[in-house]
Amino acid sequence: MSGKEETKKPLEEGEIITTEAGYCPNCGSGSLDYKKPYLSMDGNSEIYEITCVDCGFEGKEWYILEFNTITDMNDNDMNGKKRTVKTVSPSSSFLYLM
Ligand SMILES: [Zn+2]
Repeated sequence: MSGKEETKKPLEEGEIITTEAGYCPNCGSGSLDYKKPYLSMDGNSEIYEITCVDCGFEGKEWYILEFNTITDMNDNDMNGKKRTVKTVSPSSSFLYLM
């Protein structure tokens, strides 16, 4: 065999392409370049512009934003507890010291 093996089968007419975050919908590569996300016009979605490193496909990844909770300006919920933020390690206590 010479060169890259073509594993992607041609699309059937009317076939629906399923897409997955982090993968190029054109060639299936997991090597995507991401730009800074921004909000959609209606404010309900966050959009990452992507470029596939392997095939050059350019597109947008869409994430639907969902209401979670309301806090005060110090990120305390209405029970006086700090809101748990996913990106912050649960073991870190610096949030409580501020
Ligand atoms: Zn690609």
